[in-house]
Amino acid sequence: MINLDIDALDKIAGKRLERNDAFSFQCHPELSCFNKCCRNLNLFLYPYDVIRLKNRLGITSDKFIDRHSDIIMRDSSFFPEVLLRMSQNEERTCPFLSESGCLVYPDRPDACRTFPIEQGVINDAKTKKTNLIHFFDSALPYLKASENGVVINFSSIAGITGRSGPASLIFNDGYAAANRGISLLTETWARIGAPQVRVNEIMLGIFETRHGEKTRGWELLDQEQRKSLINHTLLERTGTIEDVVNAVLFVVKDAPFMTGSIIKLDGGYTLGGETVQPMPEGIV
Ligand code: SF4
Repeated sequence: MINLDIDALDKIAGKRLERNDAFSFQCHPELSCFNKCCRNLNLFLYPYDVIRLKNRLGITSDKFIDRHSDIIMRDSSFFPEVLLRMSQNEERTCPFLSESGCLVYPDRPDACRTFPIEQGVINDAKTKKTNLIHFFDSALPYLKASENGVVINFSSIAGITGRSGPASLIFNDGYAAANRGISLLTETWARIGAPQVRVNEIMLGIFETRHGEKTRGWELLDQEQRKSLINHTLLERTGTIEDVVNAVLFVVKDAPFMTGSIIKLDGGYTLGGETVQPMPEGIV
């Protein structure tokens, strides 16, 4: 890692990568760290990683998951985490590691692919201290230079509902508090980014794959509890991935005058539970 001065990115030696540029790095047996990074890892796999690896190994996804992964369910998460199962040796080496390097190199997982450019922290060579990178601040100069930068924050309607009504079956206090905080960032970043960069927020309700039918949390609910969540949603259904994609495309492509806005994409959940009564006779 090298020390980067965020305010003087233009003064950094070398060439700034543009879209479609490639970069190169060295990884070969003459380097002292060769093969050292492929051990003792918690290596998370994305679905795309599984597809590439199972194709390379010539086996089905089921077989790959059985043979090469550990599935972890945490109490605090509704989603399973898929990790590459390391070898049962003292150093817990990667099963695809050989003396000559990675056996699945062209289809290695995303974590391995992006390792050379990973910058979770900046190591200050002078003070020997590490500093966290704030992603928005780091990306801002590039977003501004593009003159049409768009940032979309994702949050949850938990920031509005808190732990109330049927939503209290799925949202806890900490989750609600964190999501309320995201809206503050959206508004602050919109001010900082303007006029070159638009910053908006999509606040998600209950989706098939997010608290909904395809999640473990949903399975833990009984029929009545599930019904109470659907009945509280004006559109009487959970959302889909397509609903999210369409909203993102709208913000990116069709809303050039929108910044600092918070879009509720919840099928009307936050308006549900209250009926509209006819006005009493004689009142306009
Ligand atoms: S998949 Fe290849 S690059 Fe990734 S940890 Fe295993 S051996 Fe190393």
